[in-house]
Amino acid sequence: MITIDGSIGEGGGQILRTSLALSLITGKPFRIEKIRAGRRSPGLLRQHLTSVQAAAEIGQANAAGAAIGSQQLTFTPGKIAPGEYHFAIGTAGSTTLVLQTVLPALMTVEGTSRLTLEGGTHNPFAPPFEFLEKAFLPLLKRMGVKVDAKLVNYGFYPAGGGKLDVTIHGTRQLGQMELPTRGEVKRRLAKVVLCHLPRNIAERELNIVQKKLSWPKKWHQVETPTNAIAPGNFVSLEIECEQVTEIFTGFGERNVAAEAVADQAALAARRYLASEAAVGEYLADQLLLPMALAGRGSFTTLPPSRHTITNIEIIKKFLDLPITAEQTNNRVWRIQVGRT
Ligand code: ATP
Repeated sequence: MITIDGSIGEGGGQILRTSLALSLITGKPFRIEKIRAGRRSPGLLRQHLTSVQAAAEIGQANAAGAAIGSQQLTFTPGKIAPGEYHFAIGTAGSTTLVLQTVLPALMTVEGTSRLTLEGGTHNPFAPPFEFLEKAFLPLLKRMGVKVDAKLVNYGFYPAGGGKLDVTIHGTRQLGQMELPTRGEVKRRLAKVVLCHLPRNIAERELNIVQKKLSWPKKWHQVETPTNAIAPGNFVSLEIECEQVTEIFTGFGERNVAAEAVADQAALAARRYLASEAAVGEYLADQLLLPMALAGRGSFTTLPPSRHTITNIEIIKKFLDLPITAEQTNNRVWRIQVGRT
């Protein structure tokens, strides 16, 4: 039985999700203690509990200790069963993080799975739908996994009510991917989404993008969808390069000025553009698992986040695979998964 200390490094929900995913794939049971000990409200929240339940359902597994607030869990996996599943978080908890839990298992078995996920679709501290669709999934496609994701309804914090439909075409062997450079920038897009909110918010946000990044108006876009049960706003800065598309997001919040929302995204985009790294900090921690499942891969990135370092530790608990992070210049690191 593998033992995981949920308080190590980053000490958040990702330790749990990576453990669940790799337990399902390797068939190795694990026990995790001190779940999310690094957080203000430790233990399983609705999003994490739904992730555990979803992993148990698709993997015919036993999950002892799966309850709200629980800080310990013993997970004994069964056989992964592709199929049709519906996972509803019941709050604005992130649907994309529930997907992050079950996708690795479902994408590595033959067969098609259709998932409906309900909850939040644009949450601070989680991948927003656009990031999934335009940054992460195209890279999986290059590794041979076809996943189609559709945003049915927007779900914003705190109301939730969002919905994603995801179709996963599984394959037994993932292809290797090397991402040494991002290539030339081909296109930039600053998109503001406003649901049930005044239009001038978008103007204020795009002014900041123009000021901080010098992105002209022809690269601006405003969308005002109505398929959300409550108001919401975000700024999505898309940088499409030859090898990779990166997305930097600022999430609108009550009592946070529109300017600050856009500023947060613009700063992250600027930092990425100023470096020669192929991927930013979020893609870095999310690419590790698929590359480890392929057995090999590499990419360059900005200085690794604590999420990335912690994820490497957890992957090594389940897979006998070297993963190294090496600084190549003052802004760029190279992550190598598997033997060179
Ligand atoms: P906790 O509440 O325990 O912090 P959590 O379950 O919400 O945890 P984390 O452990 O913090 O999540 O992991 C967050 C995940 O979301 C990471 O994989 C990170 O790369 C991703 N992520 C966070 N913000 C963004 C963003 N703006 N764009 C893309 N991905 C993001």
